[in-house]
Amino acid sequence: MDVSEFIEAVPLPVILVRDDERIAATNRAAKVLLGPGMEGRHYVTILRQPLVLDCIEAALRLREASETQYTNAFSGRDAIYHVRAVPVAEGVLVTFEDRTAMHEAGQMRRDFVANVSHELRTPLTALMGFIETLRGPAREDAEARDRFLGIMEREAGRMNRLVSDLLSLSQVESEERMRPTDRVDVSAQVRSVISSLKPLAEQFGVSLTTEGAEMETIIPGDADQIAQVFTNLIENAIKYGGTGGEVTVCITRHESEPTLRGPAVRVDVADHGEGISARHIPRLTERFYRVDGHRSREMGGTGLGLAIVKHIVNRHRGRMRIESHKGQGSLFSVILPAS
Ligand code: ADP
Repeated sequence: MDVSEFIEAVPLPVILVRDDERIAATNRAAKVLLGPGMEGRHYVTILRQPLVLDCIEAALRLREASETQYTNAFSGRDAIYHVRAVPVAEGVLVTFEDRTAMHEAGQMRRDFVANVSHELRTPLTALMGFIETLRGPAREDAEARDRFLGIMEREAGRMNRLVSDLLSLSQVESEERMRPTDRVDVSAQVRSVISSLKPLAEQFGVSLTTEGAEMETIIPGDADQIAQVFTNLIENAIKYGGTGGEVTVCITRHESEPTLRGPAVRVDVADHGEGISARHIPRLTERFYRVDGHRSREMGGTGLGLAIVKHIVNRHRGRMRIESHKGQGSLFSVILPAS
């Protein structure tokens, strides 16, 4: 029986260390990970990390399976491998399992929890401070009480929006693999979003204009989610691009849209505000990513709006594009497949 043939058939990087502590066989995946020319050499000269050396040594000496972790700056990223050294008749078989994705997912989860806690703590601290003041020094001061209650209302509103956005995000994420099947008229949704955002536009002195919103544009979709996409985009255009005075929403229908290679409905939301510099654009759809954190919070933003948009568009198998130049306004385009 040729051991090398068996080892070669395993997709994980595998090396066989004989009892004389030399490497007897390796497979292709191991050569990619650790480099060629390992056969015949002492394992200590190849695997220089102390944890891995201890693990192999323990398996050789004690004839017991042993495990550890191996990190490798592999093709430009830090890869983390779970290493197992298992005694076999010929020596010790060492396997390397890539666990980088799992570690990254764990890190993302920890970052997310830290972000959410931080976002909730700020308004909560303000609320607690004002409750204390209202109970103590401002007890008999009617004017201060009114002012503080106003601030408390705003802070509670911020927490409420954050929790609602988090719930929307988790709902959209959990449904992301289920394609929506209802028939939705995108134009009708856009018209209704625009009419509900009229007061906000007036408050910011922005005129909202539409093109193509009268034609029927049916897609397979989830009506509430489609409305949410355009609420978030148009609200952002008013809040962040409002200095341009005008926000336009343009709806077009395409029999064969090049990126989707089929019939599609495209909605462009354009503002003429201050724009976004190129380095921020790829990160805008990350949760809690804001170009100007202070400004977003002033506007009551949660930093989750575009993350929600991205997930809804993905669920509809559509595409989102962001084009912007500092000082020249921004264009957010959503392209949704129409069949
Ligand atoms: P937020 O709740 O902060 O509005 P979003 O995810 O909706 O969160 O947006 C993320 C960030 O993208 C915003 O904080 C803002 O800095 C930037 N942004 C979004 N839309 C625009 C726009 N039309 N013009 C300029 N900046 C924008």
